[in-house]
Amino acid sequence: MNKKALVLFSGGQDSTVCLAWALHHFDHVETIGFDYGQRHRIELQCRLEVIEQIKQQFPAWGNKLGEDRVIDLGWLGQISDCALTEERRIELSENGLPNTFVPGRNLVFFLIASAVAYRRGLSTLVGGMCQTDFSGYPDCREDTLKALQVATNLGMASSFRFETPLMWIDKTETFTLGETLGGSKLIDILLKNTHTCYTGDRSTLHSWGYGCGQCPACELRKNGWKNYISQSNQ
Ligand code: ZN
Repeated sequence: MNKKALVLFSGGQDSTVCLAWALHHFDHVETIGFDYGQRHRIELQCRLEVIEQIKQQFPAWGNKLGEDRVIDLGWLGQISDCALTEERRIELSENGLPNTFVPGRNLVFFLIASAVAYRRGLSTLVGGMCQTDFSGYPDCREDTLKALQVATNLGMASSFRFETPLMWIDKTETFTLGETLGGSKLIDILLKNTHTCYTGDRSTLHSWGYGCGQCPACELRKNGWKNYISQSNQ
C-alpha cells in the first residue's frame, strides 16, 4: 500500500483535524471538497484559508500537500430538499432524522472521491465522519462506510482503505487530537479559520470560533470546546 491519501476536506473543524492526521501519517496528501449548494457555502472559502494557514505554519506538512480540488455537485442540492441546502428552520423530521440530513451525501462524497483517487493513484481516503456525536445521520455510521468501501473496491477493482479517525471520538476529543497533532497553532487554525455553522454565520468570533451559536453544528462545537478547555485547566 502506498502512503498517499485523499482527504475529504470541507473546511470544517472535523475535516481539518483529519487533514492534519493524514499529513502526520502519510507522505503525500491531496484534498477534495464538494459544492452541493450548501447554505454554508462560505466553508468553501474557509477551506482555502485553512490550507494556506497549514502551508504557512507547518512547512513540513505543506511540502506533503498536493492538489486541491472542488467538485461541483449542484445536482445533489437540487434533489435533496433539506435544511442544509434551503433556507428553512432546522428541526426533526417525521422519521426522526434532522432535516439537515442530505440523503446519501457521504456515500456520494466517498464514491466521487474514490473515482478521483483511482485516477490519482491514492490508496487511502480519509473522512471526518463520526458516530459518537451522532446527529442521526445514517451515512456517518462506521458500518455504512465499511460497506461502501467493500462495494467501491468491488466496483472499481481496487483496494482503497476508507479511514475515519474521528469515528469513535467526540468533539472534545477532536480538539485534543488536534492539539496532539499540531499544538496550539493548529488549535488556533481550528478556531479562527474552520467553519462549522450550518447557517454560514461568520459575523462573530466566539471563544469556540465563528458561528450563529444556535444551530446543532454550533452547539456541538461550542460544547466540545467548553469541555476541552475545562479539561485542559484541570
Ligand atoms: Zn450555527
